[in-house]
Amino acid sequence: MADLDVVVVGAGFTGIYAVHALRSAGLTVRAFEAGDGIGGTWFWNCYPGARCDVESKDYSYAFSPELEQEWSWSERYPAQPEILRYLHHVAGKFGLWPHIQLNTRVTAAVWDAGPSTWTVSTDDGASVTARFVVMGVGNLSELAVPDIPGLDTFEGPWYHTSRWPKEGVDFNGKRVGLIGTGSTGIQVAPEIAAVAEHLYVFQRTANFAVPNRNRPWEDAEERTFKESYRDYREQARKSILGVPVAGTGKAALETPADEREQVYMERWKAGGGMPFLGAYTDVMFVREANDTVAEFMRDRIRETVADSEVAELLCPKNFPVGAKRLCQSDDYYAMFNQPNVTLVDIRSAPVESVYPGGLKTAANSYELDAIVFATGFDAITGPLFAIDIRGTGGVALREAWARGPRAYLGVAAAGFPNMFIVTGPGSPGVLSNMVLSIEQHVEWIRDCITHLTGGGYATVEADPAAQETWMELVTEIAYSTLFPMADSWYVGANIPGKPRAFTPYVGGVGSYRERCDAVAAAGYEGFTLGPGSVSTA
Ligand SMILES: Cc1cc2nc3c(=O)[nH]c(=O)nc-3n(C[C@H](O)[C@H](O)[C@H](O)COP(=O)(O)OP(=O)(O)OC[C@H]3O[C@@H](n4cnc5c(N)ncnc54)[C@H](O)[C@@H]3O)c2cc1C
Repeated sequence: MADLDVVVVGAGFTGIYAVHALRSAGLTVRAFEAGDGIGGTWFWNCYPGARCDVESKDYSYAFSPELEQEWSWSERYPAQPEILRYLHHVAGKFGLWPHIQLNTRVTAAVWDAGPSTWTVSTDDGASVTARFVVMGVGNLSELAVPDIPGLDTFEGPWYHTSRWPKEGVDFNGKRVGLIGTGSTGIQVAPEIAAVAEHLYVFQRTANFAVPNRNRPWEDAEERTFKESYRDYREQARKSILGVPVAGTGKAALETPADEREQVYMERWKAGGGMPFLGAYTDVMFVREANDTVAEFMRDRIRETVADSEVAELLCPKNFPVGAKRLCQSDDYYAMFNQPNVTLVDIRSAPVESVYPGGLKTAANSYELDAIVFATGFDAITGPLFAIDIRGTGGVALREAWARGPRAYLGVAAAGFPNMFIVTGPGSPGVLSNMVLSIEQHVEWIRDCITHLTGGGYATVEADPAAQETWMELVTEIAYSTLFPMADSWYVGANIPGKPRAFTPYVGGVGSYRERCDAVAAAGYEGFTLGPGSVSTA
């Protein structure tokens, strides 16, 4: 007899919706969350400037038309505190709090084939058994801090953006070093530069950033999208990236240069990254087509940054636009015109060490009062590997994925029965509007569990052959595009020694959903359903 039907790990967008969806299907559920609050990404990443770069009307749950109508987003791109308030509202509205246990980290999950249950252990020394485990641990929740010699000798404070002190940090009058110039670094830098005596931005890789053109929602605008929200959500479900993007339907390389320039300029003025990737049909497939976007963006950097040497350093040159997460900021490039901001090139002169009073590169020493790491995460596999997950025969997930992660449809791994992964490797996950992908995954998992229970099955497990075929398809599609062509966290390049693997399904959230639905309609094709029944206490 199992204690619970389902253990959910994590209480971010995934965990919160999983608790609601699974409980609504009549299942007993408990979510364990390591943090002392719900919200996941939006609980931990409370650094100044933290903001979503998918519009609020897209980056929100679609499962409840009532929720959709009653909640009002104040801005086009919501900031972290507002998203966190939204998630608290959802947890309260749907009565989820009693089913979420905070301050509890799951340390191990071990499959027991006899009773067909998982034993889930937590860092408070307790354990529970459950028929199913849903890993809602997030792709970006396990921090990456570079191993810089001497960091422990630094006399000032240092921070990782994903563990920002809740009470905030006062950089007034301080000399601050920022390491990391991806999405987060680009968001936090202008906020620090606004108050610090001096900000040194240590840049290894220049990234593309497009403007947000963030602004408050006008009432009329909000009314309009709320009137047709259902239709709009339906378009999003059928789209490529999980957001309806109007493309021109043409190839960039078959479009006259002046017309192309005009299209890019319109998108630049409107703001947002996805409209660039979807502007022309060949942008993410043909390097020369992508170069037209890249050159347009480099020109915008050159016209914004007054010092031409700094501008050139800020121009990304070695990877296609979109192959690294396309950053968004309204003021990052202009910030380099401030006298209290210095760009330091650590590609040509790498960071060597931290000393009590600052940081030393191969070329220079920088006196610092504080260091900020915006160095991201051990993405996708990191949070799963942090748990001792053992499937059939006691095999560890770490071992099963030693040469790269593999999961059928991105939701289930062969050898790990009754364990579901939300936005796992092999799903559109990190390359989509994640809330939309999370909802789709959770609903598919709920329906699968309901099917098992209704059909007298105790177990469901991905077939190794179906998993291999799926991962081959994922790889084939990925390598027909430009997405894998950068040393990014998408391929694990930010973590020394991590096997290089590009695992997001880039065939589009619409076609992915169709495939998942077809698998379910065919009686969970590619999965083995095991007979028996497991009762819960
Ligand atoms: C700064 C930042 C900005 C982002 N912006 C966007 C955006 O604009 N658009 C977009 O689509 N996506 C964005 N993302 C991705 C974002 O992570 C997802 O959109 C979404 O919030 C993921 O929700 P989740 O619940 O799956 O994971 P998370 O929000 O990461 O939540 C996972 C939770 O699981 C908990 N957890 C992990 N391991 C354990 C364990 N062993 N035991 C107990 N609890 C555990 C963690 O503490 C965490 O709270 C952003 C991510 C970051 C970091």
